[in-house]
Amino acid sequence: MAGFGTPTVRAVLFEVRCPGCSALGWCPCAECIGALADPEPTSVPGTDSVALLFSHDEVGREFIHALKYRGERAIARWLGDSLALAHLDARGEAVPIDAVTWAPTTAAHRRARGFDQAETLARATAKALRARPSRLLRRIGGTAQSGAGREARLAGPRFEGRARAAGRCVLLVDDVVTTGATLRAATAALMDAGAAAVHVAACARRGRDRFSAAA
Ligand SMILES: [Zn+2]
Repeated sequence: MAGFGTPTVRAVLFEVRCPGCSALGWCPCAECIGALADPEPTSVPGTDSVALLFSHDEVGREFIHALKYRGERAIARWLGDSLALAHLDARGEAVPIDAVTWAPTTAAHRRARGFDQAETLARATAKALRARPSRLLRRIGGTAQSGAGREARLAGPRFEGRARAAGRCVLLVDDVVTTGATLRAATAALMDAGAAAVHVAACARRGRDRFSAAA
């Protein structure tokens, strides 16, 4: 019949690699998910619940690096889905979230990487929860935790909550919990702005020793 030739194959195969072991196929692969270490439990003053996915070592660190330094979309999506599920597990009978937000990184980090990994994660998590991502925090000053001097690190980052946080039940999303200073400052800023409740969902937690020493 005229007009019917051999069908053209239009499927496009995307090469996806597991950020944990570099194997082709799934991001991440089941083996690497199984190899993730459980995080040390932690609490953040002022929050209604804290959900953590894994410990920041070996495979967990590779997942975070893929997100943070390479901006890999597939791992961002998987982490967002996982944070949403972990939050639902952790929140108990709490009121549903009506805004998902993040503690913005420094302008210098954002310029260097071209994106803010905390924002990427928050947007992926909001999508999974069918909730609204909302920029509710402003960073005051430009000091990055990892590059700051000892004095600035101990003082920690500072944030200001936006007026539209008032009355909202907020989910605060972050990639790595080190000293907990960022989450504490961000939670306090949201509460000061009148948030009704703050829940936390973060991907990776560094070891207990570092956390306790600075907490
Ligand atoms: Zn793997």
